[in-house]
Amino acid sequence: MHIRRKRPDTVRGPAEHFTGTVWLDEVATPAAPSRLRMFSVHFAPDAHTSWHRHPHGQVLHVLEGEGLVQREGGEVEAIRAGDTVWIEPGERHWHGAGPRTFMTHLAVVEAAADGTTTEWDAHVSADVYPA
Ligand code: MN
Repeated sequence: MHIRRKRPDTVRGPAEHFTGTVWLDEVATPAAPSRLRMFSVHFAPDAHTSWHRHPHGQVLHVLEGEGLVQREGGEVEAIRAGDTVWIEPGERHWHGAGPRTFMTHLAVVEAAADGTTTEWDAHVSADVYPA
């Protein structure tokens, strides 16, 4: 076993893939054969991901605040501290804070054999993200 306290620097979610202010903390990237990747993601009010897919799906576990998630073809759904969301492999979706609330979630994925964790798509349009 191993306890790690020193973590990599917190990094900004790049504007190419996120709208608004998003900070990413890497929690766990264990060595092979594990393909686990775990991040704590901090969304300022109004901030959210672009549309994207995860080849092996994703678990989102909300730690703090209130946010939103939408699967393609589905309604925008509210999520809050304590909620756990399963995104199916290949399911196009986005997630983030509410328009007036912070939200922090753990994001857990299994990388594909080639290392891919996320396939990024278009930004969420203003008529989809609630005002
Ligand atoms: Mn996702």
